[in-house]
Amino acid sequence: MRLFGSLPRVSRAASFVAVGGFLLPAVWFGFSSRGTANGARDAVVQPVQFAQAPVGAVDDGAELSAEENTEPDASADAQILAQQTAYASAGKAPAASRTIRVGLTTKGGDIVLWSPSQMFVSDGEQLGRRLTVPARQTVTFSLGDNQTRNAGGTVFSGPVQINMGSSAYGAWQKPMVWVAGGPTHVSTNGENPRFQRAYRGSFEIAPQIYSFEPAMHKSKLRLVNIVPLEEYLRGVVPWEMSPSAPLEALKAQAICARSEALSKLAGGRHAKDDFQICDYDHCQGYPGIENEKPATDRAVRETSGLVLYHGNTIADAVYGTNSGGISAAADHVWRGPPEAYLQSVRDFSPTVHSATARVVKPRMTEADWTIYCTRNLPSWAQPSQSQINDLAARRRKSPRTAALFQENDLPEFYRWTREVSAAELGAAMATKAAPGTAPMQTATEVRVVERATSGHIVKLAIFGRTSDGSPTSVTIEKDSYIRAMLSGRLGSTTALPSSTFVAIARRDASGTVTGWSFRGAGWGHGVGMCQRGAQNHALAGWNARQIIAHYYRGTTLRKLQ
Ligand SMILES: [Zn+2]
Repeated sequence: MRLFGSLPRVSRAASFVAVGGFLLPAVWFGFSSRGTANGARDAVVQPVQFAQAPVGAVDDGAELSAEENTEPDASADAQILAQQTAYASAGKAPAASRTIRVGLTTKGGDIVLWSPSQMFVSDGEQLGRRLTVPARQTVTFSLGDNQTRNAGGTVFSGPVQINMGSSAYGAWQKPMVWVAGGPTHVSTNGENPRFQRAYRGSFEIAPQIYSFEPAMHKSKLRLVNIVPLEEYLRGVVPWEMSPSAPLEALKAQAICARSEALSKLAGGRHAKDDFQICDYDHCQGYPGIENEKPATDRAVRETSGLVLYHGNTIADAVYGTNSGGISAAADHVWRGPPEAYLQSVRDFSPTVHSATARVVKPRMTEADWTIYCTRNLPSWAQPSQSQINDLAARRRKSPRTAALFQENDLPEFYRWTREVSAAELGAAMATKAAPGTAPMQTATEVRVVERATSGHIVKLAIFGRTSDGSPTSVTIEKDSYIRAMLSGRLGSTTALPSSTFVAIARRDASGTVTGWSFRGAGWGHGVGMCQRGAQNHALAGWNARQIIAHYYRGTTLRKLQ
C-alpha cells in the first residue's frame, strides 16, 4: 500500500490563477505545469503565463445567476430526501451499487468547489433550503462568524457560510452538494497539490465533529465525498498499482480494494467520524479521478461487484507493496487474534526459485535469516531487471507519473540496508526509557527475542549503557513500533521498510561495536497480497482468481447482489 508520505515527491507545481477574486489552481483549467527533472523532491512552484483568460474563468463582477430558494418545491424536496436516505443507508449491508462516504484529507480553513456542471446545495438540517450554483462558478464554504469551540479547542460548530462571487449566504448547518454531471474540483486552500483534486459524486460539508488524525484533517470543516463504490475504486486502483501492470494483477488489486473498503465499512473503522473510510493509507489511498486510466477502469469494470469472502464475512483483503518473498501473518504484525485467510505465504516456487527454496527451510535459525535478508534471492516478489529498467525509462519520460505509480518496482524495497551507529541507536532508545530511569546513551547489542516463521520480528531487545556506564535495555514489540524505532534518525518517517531484517554489528579494531547494518526484506507490513508478487504471477499466466486464492487461503469470491 502506498503512503501519502511519498507525495512531497510529486512535482505538479501549484500554480494559481486569479479568477473572480479567487485563487484557483491552474490545473483546474487544463493547464499543466512541469516538474523538475529529478522529480518532486525539488518541486518548485512555477508561474504559468496566460495569453488569455483560461476557459471557464468567471469574469470579475459578472452577473451571477445563483439562486437561493426557500419556497416549498415538492419534487426538489423529494429528491433531497431520497439522496439523504441513500446517504444514511450507505453504511448498512453493502452492495456494489451503494455509495460510500469518504472523508477527504483537508488542510487549511475554507473549502472551495468548482465544477464544469451546475451544482446544487441543500442543507441536511434545513429541509427545503437550496442554492443553485451555475456551471463554472466557484463556491466557497467557510465557518461563519458564530463559530464556537469546545474546551479542548478541537471541535467546531457552525454555522457554515457560503460565498459565491460577491454574494454571501449564511447560517447553513450541513451543506450537501450534488453535481449535475462531471467532476468537481476541490481545494481546501492548502498550498500542497495534494489538496487540489477532482472527484466524482456528491459532497457533504459540515463543522468537524471528530478528527481521527488531526495532522491529515486540519480543516475546521469536514469534507465528505459521497461516491458510488465502483467509481471510488476507479480512483483507488491506479493509486495502489501501476496502470501498466498486467490486467489480471490489476483485477486482483480491484477485488482487494473493493473487499477491503467494504470490510472497513462493516467494521466501523471510522465510527466516530461522519464518514466511513478515509482517503489515505490508514484505509486506502483515494486521490480522486486524477489518476484514472483505461486499464484500471477496465480492471474495476471486469470485476464489478466481486468481493472476497471468508465464510459469510467479507474478508479484510489487506495488501502490501512488497513482501520480500514471504508474506506475514496478520496476528504477528498487528498482534490481534489469528485470521485464517491472512497467514504467511511463501511466495516462491521450489522449481522456479530453487536458490530461495534451498535457503528457506521449515525451521529457520538467525543465521538462515541473515542469508535470506542479505541476498537478492529470487521470488515472485522480486522485481525483474526489465521491470527496473522499465521504471527507469518511465521516470525519464514522466518524473511525476513515475513518482506516483512506480514505487513498488524499486529494487531497494525488495532487499534494503539501513546503517545506524551505536550512538544513534542509543539516542533513539533514550526516548523510550521508563519514567524515573536513566536513558540509554550508547547501544551495545541488538537481539531478536522473537521472530515469526515469516521472518518478521515480533519482539526485539536493544541493550546499551546509560551515561554513567550502567547497563540498560529496551524491548520493542509489534511491527509498527519496531519499524518506527529509528524514525527521525535516518532521515525517513518510516525508517525501516519492514520488520523482516537482521542487524549485523560493525566493530572497530578493538572489537567494540560501533554500529549496525540493518539488512532487510520487503516493504510494508507484508500481510495479504504482495503487489509486486501479484504482477509477477500475472506475467507468469495466472489469472486474478488464482492470484487472490494464492494470497488469501480458504477464501471465496462472490458477486454482490
Ligand atoms: Zn481510515
